[in-house]
Amino acid sequence: MKHIQQFRKKIWRGAVVLIIIVMITIPTIIITRAIVYNESKSDAYNDLSLLAPEVVIHYQEVRLDSWKDYVAVIQVWNMTDNDQSYKESIDPTTNHLVQQLDNGINFNNLDWSGLNIEAIKQAKYCRHLLDQYLFFTPGEYQFPLQEPSHYTDTFGADREGGQRKHEGTDIFNQKGTPIFSVCNGTLERIGWNRLGGERVGIRGQDGNYYYYAHLEKVNEALLVGNSISKGELIGTMGNTGDAITTPDHLHFGIELPNGKWINPYSWLKVWEFNSRLNR
Ligand SMILES: [Zn+2]
Repeated sequence: MKHIQQFRKKIWRGAVVLIIIVMITIPTIIITRAIVYNESKSDAYNDLSLLAPEVVIHYQEVRLDSWKDYVAVIQVWNMTDNDQSYKESIDPTTNHLVQQLDNGINFNNLDWSGLNIEAIKQAKYCRHLLDQYLFFTPGEYQFPLQEPSHYTDTFGADREGGQRKHEGTDIFNQKGTPIFSVCNGTLERIGWNRLGGERVGIRGQDGNYYYYAHLEKVNEALLVGNSISKGELIGTMGNTGDAITTPDHLHFGIELPNGKWINPYSWLKVWEFNSRLNR
């Protein structure tokens, strides 16, 4: 009888320990997976932002049906971690991968001989990103202005004497130039903040936050919580907020759901090109 009681006690203890382990393990797995997922997602956006917009634009212009294949193959030559002699040995103008694509061979059937494993991996990863993330895909997003405008890549430049970094792209044009939403989404923030002045924040359908700052005037028809379509009027260009001493411009930023700002410059270049073609 005593043995049975002890045995029951043991089982009972075992069960409690097991429940505690399960209660700790499952949330840990969920949280870890969420963090890893978010991290890999921001890495993916970051890698995507490093692609040369000129290459994307060129192949969208001359090979619209297979531009992703060309960009993935060409970007191997733009990789900074390949040494110069290796780069020269696989010169893009004479390389056999581009020739194979020119001959209509499918990306999945390419003969990769002559390339190191790392370069092949990079090209395949890049091709995967271009399918997975649509920032470069014609028709998915649009440039926020209709007029030709001036902007350079100043992402990460010092602001306020190095106290913070520039987290977007400044697009310059005249005061009052209309500004349009680059994507479909929901209006999340409208109105004044200290740095941004009159600003609009839109949660895109892709989950990212799109930030338009220093507006002269926000479109009065916009209300927080309402949906907004790609191409809808957001407001007009100005220099409100901390841009008061600088020429009129739109500060355009993209923040991932994990709070990281990513460099929108390459995408803006491609959106501008595609908006001009109006496709
Ligand atoms: Zn700015």
